[in-house]
Amino acid sequence: MSIYHQLTDSYQRQFTYLRLSVTDQCNFRCNYCLPDGYSAASPDPFLSLEEIQRVAAAFALNGTKKIRITGGEPTLRKDLADIIRICKSTPGIETVALTSNGYKITQQLPALVDAGLDQLNLSADSLEPANFEMITGHNKLQEVLAGIDLAISLGLKRVKLNVVLMREFNRNELSKFLEFVSNRPISLRFIELMQTGDNVEFFKKQHVSGAEIQQHLEQNNWLQVLRDPHAGPAVEYTHPHYEGNIGLIMPYSKDFCSSCNRLRVSSHGNLHLCLFADAHESLRPYLTQESSAQLAKRLQHLLGGKKETHDLHEGNSGSTRHLAMLGG
Ligand code: SAM
Ligand code: SF4
Repeated sequence: MSIYHQLTDSYQRQFTYLRLSVTDQCNFRCNYCLPDGYSAASPDPFLSLEEIQRVAAAFALNGTKKIRITGGEPTLRKDLADIIRICKSTPGIETVALTSNGYKITQQLPALVDAGLDQLNLSADSLEPANFEMITGHNKLQEVLAGIDLAISLGLKRVKLNVVLMREFNRNELSKFLEFVSNRPISLRFIELMQTGDNVEFFKKQHVSGAEIQQHLEQNNWLQVLRDPHAGPAVEYTHPHYEGNIGLIMPYSKDFCSSCNRLRVSSHGNLHLCLFADAHESLRPYLTQESSAQLAKRLQHLLGGKKETHDLHEGNSGSTRHLAMLGG
């Protein structure tokens, strides 16, 4: 397959990773994301399989190698296995990953792996069932943890557990989280809580800097893993006595945006150049009217509008009301 162009922006960042949201619907009510539950933001349908195929093909022509399918909750799409199959069979796409809240994952995972899924991220912001239920509104912790173990046994290339850090809800569980990776070959990722349009007061009370965790790790013989400069903004730690790694995603840290390698397309077909951008561009009209090659060129042009950094430090989270809109 010939690549037209490597997507590179004005700041010499290369974009080889697409995060594709396939629905903004969710069945959980995470306290930092959808505390009042889901309500539809738009009457428009979510991207169809044909539209997803077009998006994947155009990005792949521009050198995208990895697609992460996200949401809302992507497993709510009945055609999720077909979505994975389409992405995986797109020439140039090497890796297909999924981020899910894992509420029914043990039932669904074998078919998704069969369709070509390579990597799985599940979310569990607490390892205590009652606390997990308080955060998400669902008594599903055991299912999520069983999903992690199933993913390992099915031989997925990378398995991750996402944990959003919150001062009053899980800061005291740090040792439990570390213990969880002692005998599991996974990466547990602490994600700093991000401010969005809807969670400003919650953010102010609950935000914990990843630097606190980093300091604890470094004082306890965890070593920072050297990563490829294009591997994205996570910082990863390893320890000789632990099978798994600990990752940190610290969007408020200095230089976080300089290693950005990802672009986002929403479930309604909008291209978001940043999770916290003010504006987005609808690709939908072009998905039916243009060839993949034309669309690929259009993407190159649109990338010119990508800013050097987000404005989160100024308290500006752009037009993102919550991350279920875009998939994080
Ligand atoms: N529903 C799926 C899930 O929860 O894994 C996929 C979508 S969710 C938006 C993707 C990731 O973003 C999850 O790990 C979630 O915990 C995280 N997330 C959501 N809102 C966040 C926020 N305000 N700050 C940091 N992470 C957030
Ligand atoms: Fe749903 Fe994921 Fe948001 Fe939780 S974080 S409400 S599971 S989209």
